[in-house]
Amino acid sequence: MDTLTDKFGRKITYLRLAVTDRCNLRCQYCMPAHGIDIVKREELLTFKEMYRITRILSELGVNKVRLTGGEPFVRKGFVSFLEMLSFNDKLDEINITTNGALISKHIIKLEELKIKTINLSIDSLSKESFAKITRRNIFNQVYKTLEKLEESSLKLKLNTVIQSGVNTDEIIDFIELTKHKNLEVRFIEEMPFNGTGQRATKEVWNYTKILDLIKSKYPEIKPLISEKSSTSKMFKMEGYLGSFGIIPAFTRTICGDCNRIRITATGLFKNCLFDEGVFNIRAFIRNGATDSELKQLFLSIVKEKPENGFIAEANRKNNKNVSESMSTIGG
Ligand code: SAM
Ligand code: SF4
Repeated sequence: MDTLTDKFGRKITYLRLAVTDRCNLRCQYCMPAHGIDIVKREELLTFKEMYRITRILSELGVNKVRLTGGEPFVRKGFVSFLEMLSFNDKLDEINITTNGALISKHIIKLEELKIKTINLSIDSLSKESFAKITRRNIFNQVYKTLEKLEESSLKLKLNTVIQSGVNTDEIIDFIELTKHKNLEVRFIEEMPFNGTGQRATKEVWNYTKILDLIKSKYPEIKPLISEKSSTSKMFKMEGYLGSFGIIPAFTRTICGDCNRIRITATGLFKNCLFDEGVFNIRAFIRNGATDSELKQLFLSIVKEKPENGFIAEANRKNNKNVSESMSTIGG
C-alpha cells in the first residue's frame, strides 16, 4: 500500500480537519470582536466531500482525525457526520476540539461513536476573565460541560492559551485542577493567528517561561514520556489524578516528529500550520477528480511538507505575516 511519507521520512498519519470557519465565541487571541469574514456556504466543503477526503487519506495511512473549526458543533449535521466517520474501519481515533458551548447534549452519543478525546478550550477558571477572553458570558455552561465530560468515558484534555497579562496568574490553579480531576491540561503558547496579527503583549510567555513559573512552585515535577509525535511535553504531580503539559506552538520545537496535515473548512490543504495552504482540494474535487487522482495528489503534496514551521513560514508568498485567524485554519 502506498502511504503518505514526506521527504524527511516522516509518516503522515494524522489529519486535522476544520468543518467550519464559523464560531459562536469571539476569543480575543483568535479573532477581532466583530468576528472574521466568513466564506459563502458553497465555499465550505460538504460533509460528503469531507467524508470522501478522509476515506482516501485513511487508505494512505491516516488513522487519526481531529475535527475542529471554527466551532465544529455550530455546523448543522456535525453529529451525523461523526456517525458516518465512525464507520471507517481504518480510523483508530476521532478526536474533537471544541469550545464546549454546544456539546453537552451530545456527550452520550459521542461515547457510542469512535470519539476518543475531547479537547475543550478553556482559558480561565474565573467567570469574569473567561467572559473577557471569549467576549461571551458562558463560563458556567462551559464549566458544567467540563465536569460532565470528566465523568464520561471520553478522554478530556483542556486547551489553555497562555496570554500575557490575562491568565498567567491562573497557571497554578489549572495544575491544581488536575489534583482531583482526571484530565490533561495543556498550556499553549499564544500565536499571532488572530485575524489581525496584532496584540499588545507585555511579555512573551513561551514554553520556557511557562515551565520556569511552574518549577518555581513545584520544583520536583518530572516529565512524562510522551508519544514521539506528541505536540506537548507532559508532566504530572505525584499523587494527582490528572496531568499537564505545555505546547510550544509558536517556538516550534516539536516539528521534527510532525505527523500532521490539515484541511481547512474551504478545502485548502496545509502541510504545516504555518504555511499558507498548498492546494485547493475543493476545486480539484468539484472539477471531477477520481479517487486515484486524489491519491496521487496527496502522495505528491506531502512530499513538499517543510522540515519545520519556520521554513513553512519563510516560504509564504502572499501573506508574509502569520495573521489569519485560527478559526479559518482549524486549530
Ligand atoms: N472553536 C474550537 C475551540 O476553541 O476549541 C475549535 C477551534 S480553535 C481555533 C482550536 C484551538 O486553537 C483552541 O484550543 C484555541 O484556543 C486555539 N487557538 C486559537 N487561536 C490561537 C492563537 N492565536 N494562539 C494559540 N492558540 C490558538
Ligand atoms: Fe471560536 Fe475557538 Fe476561535 Fe474561540 S478559539 S473564537 S471558540 S474558533
